Formats: sequence, structure tokens, C-alpha cells
Amino acid sequence: MGATLIVGMLCVHLLCFGAMFLLISTRLHGKKMGMEVFAIGNFLLGSAYVLQLAGGPPGWNAMSVVNHTLTLCAPAVYGVGAMRFFGRPAPLWRPLLTLALAYTAAQVVAQWTLGTAARYAMLAGASALLFAAMMATVIHGARTFARDLRVEMVLFAALIGGIFALNAVKFVTVLQNGLEALDMDSRFQTVFYLYMSFLATVLAPSIVWLVLRRLTDELRAMAAHDPLTRLLNRRGLLEGLQAHFRSRTAGPAHLLIVDIDHFKHINDSYGHQVGDTVLCHVADVLRETARQGDLACRLGGEEFVVICLNTDAEGAMRLAERTRAAIENTEVMTAAAPGGPIRCTVTIGISPGFADPQELDRAMQQADAALYRGKNAGRNRIERNDDAVQASPSMKTEPLAASPAH
Ligand code: GH3
Ligand code: MG
Ligand code: MG
Repeated sequence: MGATLIVGMLCVHLLCFGAMFLLISTRLHGKKMGMEVFAIGNFLLGSAYVLQLAGGPPGWNAMSVVNHTLTLCAPAVYGVGAMRFFGRPAPLWRPLLTLALAYTAAQVVAQWTLGTAARYAMLAGASALLFAAMMATVIHGARTFARDLRVEMVLFAALIGGIFALNAVKFVTVLQNGLEALDMDSRFQTVFYLYMSFLATVLAPSIVWLVLRRLTDELRAMAAHDPLTRLLNRRGLLEGLQAHFRSRTAGPAHLLIVDIDHFKHINDSYGHQVGDTVLCHVADVLRETARQGDLACRLGGEEFVVICLNTDAEGAMRLAERTRAAIENTEVMTAAAPGGPIRCTVTIGISPGFADPQELDRAMQQADAALYRGKNAGRNRIERNDDAVQASPSMKTEPLAASPAH
């Protein structure tokens, strides 16, 4: 009676959480993170337990065969859901149908050759194998593709380990004691279904938590990045700077404002789309030339900021020159420009060193003032905002308009 009641509660849990997963998946347009598959897994397992309750004591009948097939397919479906959660495109229906047909056929063969108890032992054994494989995958995931979710993965591995152990014990006891071992009033069956009920209760909110974590991480990343170039935006820049200066050993920072020369001319000559390609090209160069840990940001329009951390004025100047030269010397590959690849140049203004995130606005103004001087002095050059204003070693004196490469 006890185990039957628990199985009844288990059905309600599985079907309700299945409906919740389905509802959540309808809100996740495009990227459903496996939620619709987890819902199917819950519906399969919930239906299996409904059949178990309706079918009565263990025996050979159609309801029991369908129950076993659904019970075995459910963990496989959860596996597919987990793969989709981690962004791996895993097919569902064809492999599921193949597994269902193969396992139903295996049940018929087991029943005819070895009898009913063997068919029940086969379900426990096959489930144990499936859970062992899932446990191994989860442990592997905690070390590789799901390192950011290590705590959650370890918890999942422990929970799956429990159901693996219970199925392994069931396999052995059914082989030893036959159908008697499946008596719903036995202590083992009560423990088995109590654990299943616990699992269904704990796993469902854990899955919702994982989805919530992914969504909030994505939202945070979106709020801190420019959508066109994927560089930081102003907010991301400030967060990065605050994180840097929180460290006791943080050295001074220098701010570089990088502004594309005559960008309006590029837009006017080749169109807005080519202009966007040029912006992405400059962003790529900034990413490549900046040192690890430096912060690269698109302020808006054709203005970028690079903050060199832990460096002196000479280090900032070297980075600025590397950046300026790299942009001048690389072509922007775009099929949309009729004259072939195009080139562009940038002017860079450098702020004095600063050591507090509160000084960001002032550093920005100082770098902007230097940039203004650079624009007036002919563009494609570097200006530093300090007493001894210096120009880059390869300073150009004539303004360089963006022009098609020859
Ligand atoms: P200077 O050498 O003095 O910097 O001149 P400039 O033409 O680069 O600067 P200006 O401020 O006159 O023009 C900037 C242009 O950038 C104007 C605007 O239409 C364009 N722009 C702003 N945001 C975007 C964008 O997201 N994509 C594209 N393609 N163009 C943009
Ligand atoms: Mg410009
Ligand atoms: Mg500008």
C-alpha cells in the first residue's frame, strides 16, 4: 500500500513538472535548451507509472510491456535533453522509436525464452546500465564541457548514482528471488519508489535552475557587450575596470580612444553594410592587438576604447602604435565593395595613467582631447594627453582618407 501511494504521488509529480517544462519551453523561442525534451521524458515516465498502477501485480500483459518500454526510454530521452541543454544538436524521435521497438522485441524474446522474472530483471539491468552511462557522462561533463556548472554536475552524478545502485540491486534480487522481489509491500520496493519520488522532486527544480542560470548569464553578457562587434560596451568596460581595481596588486591603467578616420566617407561611398563590416574588422584588430586582460570596447558609432591595464605610458604608446599600424596595413575583405578590399586608418588619443574606476570619465575626456588634436593634426596618428605631447614614430603629416586598396 505504501509503495503504491508513493508511485501515485510520483505520477502526479512527473506529469505536473512535465507540463511545467513544456510551458517553459514555449517561452524560450528558438533556443529551448532541451526543455521540451525533458517534458517528453517526464510524460513517458509518468505514463509508465500510470500503467504500472493500472496493470496490477507483475505479469505478462500488454500494459506491462508498454510500461517497461516507456520506463527504459525515459532516461534516454533525458539524455537527449541534457545534450540539447549543452548546445549539442541531438536527434530525438527516430532514435527513440528505434529504442522503443528494439526493447519491445527484446522483452518478447526474454519472456518466451526465460520467463516473466527475467523480463523484469532485464528492465532493472538495462536501466542500471543506462544510468551508469549517464553518471559517467555527467562526471566527464563536470571536467570538460560543463566546468561552469561543476557543483550542479556533481549533485546530478550523486543522484543518478543512487538510482543506478537501486536498479543494480533490483536486478540481482529479481534474478535471485524471482517476482517475489517486486512485491509492492516489500521494504526494498518502498525504498526504491521513495528514492524515485525524491529524485523527481529534486531534479525538476534543479533543471529549472540550470535554465535560469544560463538565461541570466546570457542576459548579463548581452547587457555588457556591443551586439555588432561583440566587444564590451560602456557598461561592460566599467565592470571590467572595477574588477581590475578590486585587486590589491592592480597597477595603473591607460585609456586609448580609437576613432576611425573619415568613416562617414566609407558609409557614403560603399553603404552602411560595408561600414558595419569595417567596424567589425577594426574590432577584430583591437581584440588581436590588445594584450590578454586589456579591455576593448565599442563606445558607439566608429569610436572604440582600449584600456591597457598594469602598464606605464610607454606600454600604452606601444599598444597604440601596434593597433594603428595593424589597422592601416590590413585590408577589409568585403564582397559588397565594388573596388575590391578597402583600407581604413584610425586616430588614437591616450589618457594619462589612472588608478581608480571613478576616474574613467576624466580619462575619457583627456583621451578625447588628445584625439581631437590628432584629428586636427592630420589623422592616422597617435596623441598622448600629457605635458610632453608625443606623436607615434610613424606619424603621418597628411590626412589619409579611407580609400580602396590598389
Ligand atoms: P573623423 O575622421 O573626423 O572621425 O570623421 P568621421 O567621418 O569618421 O566621423 P563622423 O562623426 O563625421 O561620422 C561618423 C559616422 O559614423 C556617421 C554615422 O552615420 C556613422 N555611424 C555611426 N554608427 C554607425 C554604425 O553602427 N554603422 C555604420 N555603418 N555607420 C555608423
Ligand atoms: Mg571618425
Ligand atoms: Mg567619431
